[in-house]
Amino acid sequence: MPLSDAQRQHLEKWMRSKAIIQCPACGDAQRQFAEASYVRALLEQGEPDLAEDKGVVKVSCGNCGHVLLFDADTLGIRGLWAEGRGF
Ligand SMILES: [Zn+2]
Repeated sequence: MPLSDAQRQHLEKWMRSKAIIQCPACGDAQRQFAEASYVRALLEQGEPDLAEDKGVVKVSCGNCGHVLLFDADTLGIRGLWAEGRGF
């Protein structure tokens, strides 16, 4: 599920505040924030959910495709879910 604009901005700000700038794999600083998404079930339907009851936010590196996963609760992004979506 793609993030809303508010969530994407929150994610970018949060990563900067934690000094998570460079990709741990290739050292590049280009993140594909436009394609950042919220991931709930990581496995096949009916199989155990790796994220359990929590979702994670996935951000991939624009250069090498390395994927970072962050806990959505820790990011504080879940409370922003309704904003900008008209609910
Ligand atoms: Zn990379």
